[in-house]
Amino acid sequence: MSEWVQATVVERIRWNDALISLRFEAELDPFKAGQFIRAGMDVDGERIGRPYSMVNAPDERPHEIYFNVVREGPLSPRLAQLQPGEHFWVVPTPNGFLTLDEIPEARHLWLLATGTAIGPFLSILKTAAPWSRFEKVVLGYSVRTRGELSYQGTIQEIRQRHPTQFQFVPFITREPCDDLLCQRIPACIESGALERKTGLDLTPETAHVMLCGNSSMLQDTLASLEKRGMKRHRRREPGHVSMEKYH
Ligand code: NAP
Repeated sequence: MSEWVQATVVERIRWNDALISLRFEAELDPFKAGQFIRAGMDVDGERIGRPYSMVNAPDERPHEIYFNVVREGPLSPRLAQLQPGEHFWVVPTPNGFLTLDEIPEARHLWLLATGTAIGPFLSILKTAAPWSRFEKVVLGYSVRTRGELSYQGTIQEIRQRHPTQFQFVPFITREPCDDLLCQRIPACIESGALERKTGLDLTPETAHVMLCGNSSMLQDTLASLEKRGMKRHRRREPGHVSMEKYH
């Protein structure tokens, strides 16, 4: 049985009707950037819990999660209504292996996310580790419309802190766009548009790629990277692409 502890909302950010961040206080066990916890609420006498990645860096408070409101879902619409001072539940033990200590040395780190899966990468980018380990760090963030590009302030701060090492590449897939990449991540990898945009080679010799998103994105992006000779990284079989299915 999971041990649940109480979390208290300190701030709710409503990016739009469907995208919400909750900042909260709770006694969590120490976590690594990139890990997730389980958050839950009691619905009709039953505790419903789902995994949510931590967006804050491990030493940053308050804690923070970022999620999509699934209209018919039992949990996210209720979590999205919580106001400062109100409570939900969390299992304080973190989980997950999408962390920098799991990946091998490489010159360049590519973090490629769709939608709310940007969260764990923001946590990683707020820590010191990527900046001491990699010459260049690229954050690719794919959303349908510009209005879904949440956390622009945080990304701007990371850019200001690491102006020569960091590159941010938004992908807007359902709106006309000029200077941005207007196709999905795998299509932009295969066409070479992502490499042209960053001026960096995406090759097994230079890159390690971390992927976070829905399962078809993970599958499709891995397939496009495999065409470049990259392979999935596993503890026993080192490779170039790290990803984790947690949903
Ligand atoms: P989403 O709908 O999965 O992402 C929107 C973007 O992803 C759009 O640009 C979309 O392009 C693109 N996309 C969709 N399918 C794709 C594919 N097969 N290959 C490449 N790009 C694809 O966003 P979301 O609803 O926020 O979901 C994010 C996913 O990440 C969920 O599965 C969630 O469980 C997971 N996740 C969430 C968290 C968290 O803490 N909330 C953490 C880790 C992972 P089109 O416009 O062309 O469809």
